[in-house]
Amino acid sequence: MSLRHGRETVAIPGPSIMPERVLAAFRRAMPNIYEGELLDVSEELLDGMKPIAKTDGHLFVTIGNGHSAWEMTTSNVFNAGDTVLVLEGGRFATAWGEAVEISGVKVDSVPGSDRAPVDVGAVQEKLTSMPADYYAAVLMVHVDTATSVRNDVAAVRAAIDAAGSSALLMVDCIASMGCDEYRMDEWGVDVTIAASQKGLMTPPGLGYVWASERTVERGNGNDRRNSYFDWQKRIGAEAIYQNYSGTPPVSHIYAAREALHMIDEEGGIEAVWARHAVLADAVRAAVRAWSTPHGIDLQVTDPEAYGNCVTTVRTGSIDAIELARRCEDGAGVTIGKGLLNPASMFRIGHMGHTNPPTILGTLGTIEAALRSMGAPIGESGVAAAADVIGAAL
Ligand SMILES: *Cc1c(COP(=O)(O)O)cnc(C)c1O
Repeated sequence: MSLRHGRETVAIPGPSIMPERVLAAFRRAMPNIYEGELLDVSEELLDGMKPIAKTDGHLFVTIGNGHSAWEMTTSNVFNAGDTVLVLEGGRFATAWGEAVEISGVKVDSVPGSDRAPVDVGAVQEKLTSMPADYYAAVLMVHVDTATSVRNDVAAVRAAIDAAGSSALLMVDCIASMGCDEYRMDEWGVDVTIAASQKGLMTPPGLGYVWASERTVERGNGNDRRNSYFDWQKRIGAEAIYQNYSGTPPVSHIYAAREALHMIDEEGGIEAVWARHAVLADAVRAAVRAWSTPHGIDLQVTDPEAYGNCVTTVRTGSIDAIELARRCEDGAGVTIGKGLLNPASMFRIGHMGHTNPPTILGTLGTIEAALRSMGAPIGESGVAAAADVIGAAL
């Protein structure tokens, strides 16, 4: 029977659960966009987003999704005929490379794995085998949302430096920003990309690009520029109109500023990372408890490579599509489809506005659905998750 009633839970890896406060901030009458409060709110957002990525560099905001932030970067930095090196693994690094390639930039890659992080030794070897200025940039993903593998960004920077390469380091943090520890300046990252709707707790519609000074300088005058995304036009904007290349996304600005207030009130981004670490540990403990030889298993094998924003679960002989259907139709819990293999994989998103009730509720629902299917499961994942959360209380 269906017990679906009341508030529904999205446990997909974005868009994530939106805080009521953020939704309330979103829903407001339009203000004057040329003067007054909106200008201060926008400035607070643009300044306040820098510590979230741990950088003193530039921040540019696109009105669009994560893909638009990729495009903004391509158009501002690359020239036709440039070559970039994509560090593959999972789904999104490859997708980014494909997006860049359409703009006339050549793409080379280091093959990756769906269960393990980028092989940094192979990256260094590849870079060393080419002239120092051969690659305009190295493109990597912090946490791949299909696999939930987290890559070691600082180690890739060290490999670029050890190879003597002048390539810029660009990192897609669309899934991980506001969830997993990230230190742009300390780790030597030149471009960081995120979007509003995952860990940043704001409805889909804003893309963020943080860029180092040398990236902006290197791109100045490049031949891929277009008027809408142009950084030069946005830098030192005298009017808010220029910051957003047109009418500012008023509702999103208020909503994203409210999300920043919530991060501050929690104790800053470090406290947010710590909460995600505990809740992600609880999810992984549940999956481990459910594990059986031909059944459920974690996609990521190395604990050093666990992403704290999403967990990809392999289901072996258990029908993952039927499992998702029972969770959603029977209980109003939407779990993420397994991008790499929908029939025998699912994903649990735990990004942004998550807490013990949402996590334990989601895990409890999955466990109930597994039992209803007669699926082989080891022990209670809910009990294992409660142990992890209990130890942190
Ligand atoms: C969600 C996601 C994207 C795509 O972002 P959109 O906002 O859907 O364009 C790209 N990369 C990663 C790692 C993601 O998680």
